Amino acid sequence: MNEFVYAQPVKIWFGEGKFEALGAVLDELGLQRCVIACGRHFAPAARALMETEPRLAAVYGEVEQNPQLSGAIETAKLARAFDADAVIGVGGGSSLDTAKFAAAIARGDGDPLAYYRGELPLPSDPLAVIAVPTTAGTGSEVTQVAVISHGDEKRSINQPAFMPKAAIVDPLLMLSVPPRTTMNTGLDAMAHALEGYWNINHQPICDIMAVEAVRLILGNLETAFRDGENREARANMALASTIAGLAFSQPRTAGCHAASYPLSEHYHLPHGEACAFTLDHFVRLNADARLEELCRRVGLSGTAELADRIAAYKQMAGLRTRLADLGDHVDIDVLARESAAHVLMSFNPVPMDAAAMRAFFEQLR
Ligand code: NAD
Repeated sequence: MNEFVYAQPVKIWFGEGKFEALGAVLDELGLQRCVIACGRHFAPAARALMETEPRLAAVYGEVEQNPQLSGAIETAKLARAFDADAVIGVGGGSSLDTAKFAAAIARGDGDPLAYYRGELPLPSDPLAVIAVPTTAGTGSEVTQVAVISHGDEKRSINQPAFMPKAAIVDPLLMLSVPPRTTMNTGLDAMAHALEGYWNINHQPICDIMAVEAVRLILGNLETAFRDGENREARANMALASTIAGLAFSQPRTAGCHAASYPLSEHYHLPHGEACAFTLDHFVRLNADARLEELCRRVGLSGTAELADRIAAYKQMAGLRTRLADLGDHVDIDVLARESAAHVLMSFNPVPMDAAAMRAFFEQLR
């Protein structure tokens, strides 16, 4: 067995209604003043919460999909204005990542764009982050990654200080996720599990998490998609998403995520849909004895069935599956070159250069 390191510092509070324990989490961490970063769907509830929890000082409620740097800057300004000691991200990965980046830049006097582009080291002593996911997808609550966009530029910024101090995973917050977002985000979680597992840096603890996450997703994603009020399916997907986050938190992701970046940057696909776009094709590409073993352990006959199941999920939700679905002027050379150049591609078990990625995308015309 190879050597490995496994570290996971986030205290996870999981369960239906756990968001009501926010006050207890703030007590435990000794936090006095917090700002919330969230999207529009949660902003009214966040403002209402300020009435009953005096430690909530302000809300930035404008986080968008593929969140912009400007949102993190505004959140950081609020944090400074209110002398906050924590940023609480409530929402999908977009809100969680905004909270992480805001918590870091609130502690520095440098140009936010220079921090973003890595021209200045991010402050290593950020404000505390509490992550409250409301989608079952990104696993951002247990990762040291913040994915932030600036215009069409989308960057995955990785630093240990981004790790939240606590995650509150409450499946009841996910009952309102619309079907298509349920499918996008569920397939993002599937991609995390598979990419942690087939990653060249895979390791045994994360492998176990990956198998369990895939098992839970196969057993619950369709029900959560078709019947959003189904609490058992939502709870199992919430669990799967956090476990899948743990599965990729150490090895990181690989080719499918590398390809998702240009797909989101140039064709504005939501992150989960951008991952789903190539996921079944990467399953076929990366098929080997280890992946066959995972399939057997989750009750599938093999990698072909896994790829077919993923393709069926995409069809069920009407997700885009062909390059022609992205518009009339898709530049396959740009997609191939930028996917191949992305650092995450170097973790794919089958090496893929620009020519190989071009051939890969040709199948998707
Ligand atoms: P998202 O946060 O962009 O949310 C998608 C949409 O769903 C938004 O319109 C949001 O307002 C809405 N929404 C969220 N929760 C809802 C709820 N409970 N009810 C109704 N509507 C709700 O989507 P996401 O897929 O969760 O996050 C994607 C972002 O996370 C991307 O930027 C991606 O790159 C990033 N990401 C980060 C990590 C990480 O480790 N940091 C991992 C994977 C992805």
